[in-house]
Amino acid sequence: MSEAKIIDGKAFAANLRESLARRAAVLKNEHGLTPGLAVVLVGEDPASQVYVRNKAKQTVEVGFQSFEHKLDVETPEADLLALVETLNKDDAVHGILVQLPLPDHIDSQKVLDSIDPAKDVDGFHAINIGRLWSGMDALVPCTPLGCSLMLKDTLGDLSGLNAVIVGRSNIVGKPMAALLIKESCTVTICHSRTKDLPAVCREADILVAAVGRAEMVRGDWIKPGATVIDVGINRIDAPEKGEGKTRLVGDVAFDEAVQVAGAITPVPGGVGPMTIACLLVNTLSAACRQHGIEEPADPGA
Ligand code: NDP
Repeated sequence: MSEAKIIDGKAFAANLRESLARRAAVLKNEHGLTPGLAVVLVGEDPASQVYVRNKAKQTVEVGFQSFEHKLDVETPEADLLALVETLNKDDAVHGILVQLPLPDHIDSQKVLDSIDPAKDVDGFHAINIGRLWSGMDALVPCTPLGCSLMLKDTLGDLSGLNAVIVGRSNIVGKPMAALLIKESCTVTICHSRTKDLPAVCREADILVAAVGRAEMVRGDWIKPGATVIDVGINRIDAPEKGEGKTRLVGDVAFDEAVQVAGAITPVPGGVGPMTIACLLVNTLSAACRQHGIEEPADPGA
């Protein structure tokens, strides 16, 4: 059997951002509207700082306005809630993202629930979760949204396909299931208590791995020709690169899976780059909905 098609998330995300930039230009010219995204970071977690920097950079690159709020790690919960309230009322801000994880003294759920659902571009507010599961228009969590876009681009119509999702988190596994049900897939969600996980995975036409365990999904868990979406990001030792060096791998044993699957996302360069691009997709949608404007088509498409 020939090797799987590699789904290039980096290129896909770059195309998506170019399309967003063209659509943002239409919004500005025809409606005088510039989508605005506010990102709030509490503390100095190095990984979060990198994410926030990348988000701000890409927000500006597509022609949106970026508002960054960096708060001290000791910031009281009440101050963070007050900032969110200010952003909820700010007409220039159409999307609000509070970078997780928050310090232990802050109740993350309380903060996420304080974001106006119309500006909840992470899609974590209970209103958006309910809307998604009800099949209504919703702001959808960015990572599963990116996976769904890549799946539709790779496979076209997903209707009737067996989809198996390994992982039931609120940010990936569960919203991924909702999106695939919407596409008329037959969906199975697996987790740490699932019996005979390899056998369940072997039934999948679409296999989404969102576990957080390096290379757990082996090649012989995959149905020949299946489409594999690897959400996992795991840093492992890489002595072959030198002492103390590390590298990123997914939840899927890529070298084995690529021999069996029909298509597969690599790590890095698969799902990861799509997440920020989808945050911008959500920001544009949120801006249009808040102004009662139909989302502009891409003039370059
Ligand atoms: P969580 O830790 O919240 O959830 C992991 C899920 O995997 C849980 O449902 C858990 O089951 C399940 N699980 C754990 N061990 C096993 C096992 N041995 N067999 C079957 N299921 C198992 O993780 P997230 O959903 O937040 O993230 C998953 C991965 O995706 C991580 O590597 C993360 O870094 C990555 N990620 C990547 C993003 C991107 O932009 N590319 C964005 C978000 C996450 P149970 O519920 O029973 O405990």
